[in-house]
Amino acid sequence: MQHITILGATGSIGASTLDVVERHPDRYRVYALTAHQRVEELAEQCLRFRPQVAVVGNADAALRLSKLLDANGLKIDIGHGETDLCAVASASGCDTVMAAIVGAAGLAPTMAAAKAGKKVLLANKEALVMSGRLLMDAVSESGATLLPIDSEHNAIFQCLPHSYQRVPEQHGVAKILLTASGGPFLNRAVETLENVTPEEAVAHPNWVMGRKISVDSATMMNKGLEVIEAHWLFGAPADRIEVVIHPQSVIHSMVSYVDGSVLAQLGNPDMRTPIAHALAYPERVASGVEPLDLVLIGQLAFQRPDFERFPCLKLAYDALTAGGTAPAILNAANEVAVQAFLDGEIGFRTIARTICRVMNELPHDEMSDIEALIEQDLRARALARSYIS
Ligand code: NAD
Ligand code: MG
Repeated sequence: MQHITILGATGSIGASTLDVVERHPDRYRVYALTAHQRVEELAEQCLRFRPQVAVVGNADAALRLSKLLDANGLKIDIGHGETDLCAVASASGCDTVMAAIVGAAGLAPTMAAAKAGKKVLLANKEALVMSGRLLMDAVSESGATLLPIDSEHNAIFQCLPHSYQRVPEQHGVAKILLTASGGPFLNRAVETLENVTPEEAVAHPNWVMGRKISVDSATMMNKGLEVIEAHWLFGAPADRIEVVIHPQSVIHSMVSYVDGSVLAQLGNPDMRTPIAHALAYPERVASGVEPLDLVLIGQLAFQRPDFERFPCLKLAYDALTAGGTAPAILNAANEVAVQAFLDGEIGFRTIARTICRVMNELPHDEMSDIEALIEQDLRARALARSYIS
């Protein structure tokens, strides 16, 4: 029996995780569920999955949750805030942690899970983009297991040998081919992009996801963050990670070997596949995902990404090449700019402009420790905010 903490249970990944968990009551039990604001949804999840602990954003939300659960006769521990998130991520009562909080807010609990030696299922790519080597070191020092949930990285993981040790040359890996759908604006005239609405930007053609990652997919910053994520997970330098646009999202990514072989992982675009893969690894369990019907799909297409249409992808490659805290600065500026776009404060193309200005203005440092990292993150956020207003 695996005892699971789900960080960000009320989100898109959280809900898909619970869907898979519910299919296998003989294998998985929920230890803790966390949410930020959506207390009613979390209360329903608690009644259905009966965790031992629930954690919410603040004391007021904790009180509301406690009243909702009391009214239904459920008594569990309720916590709030970052300290309690870290506590459920590292508690002895759980062995597996699904890291599915969106953005930098997930860094501390993900790091806590890694330091506590948990099996960490990583959806929260921002945490790894920010902390890079620090998170990878925490994993190796504690003996934690880090399994990628991001569909591309989960695909790459499946296409690499079991013995893979983060050194591509040792395993004959020539390139990692990260596929990207291209998002909703792949074919829209570039001049019209400044005026697209948040609703247009979050309408992803193939995936149903949270709003932040949906905007990231439209700018292709999501793919940029994934290039950095792939660098840390698989030890590949920037020039060995190539992005290929594949609008159908059927091939989730590929590994190209020196002998000319290219291994791919395919499936319907449904996050329950990578989630079930990582939960059961190295076994396999049913996920509820429809079998892939290639004949129905008919054709698979590929093209190269255009950096003029998608400047955020270029900015992410630049940040990876710069190293140190540059990816954390990129991520912080992006989080602020995307929120400002969703709030109607800036146009779509101004997301990239804001990030570019912050990166040019704020010198990056060596990645020394978490405190220095958080300081840079806060500085980048303040600078991005000042440009926006
Ligand atoms: P979402 O917006 O649907 O859910 C986010 C979750 O995080 C919610 O449970 C919310 O309560 C919680 N949360 C938000 N802010 C918080 C804060 N400040 N403190 C604590 N909790 C907070 O997002 P999502 O689409 O489920 O994405 C989650 C993560 O998974 C992101 O990092 C995203 O990049 C990654 N991811 C998502 C998908 C997908 O298909 N949705 C695919 C690959 C990777
Ligand atoms: Mg992805």
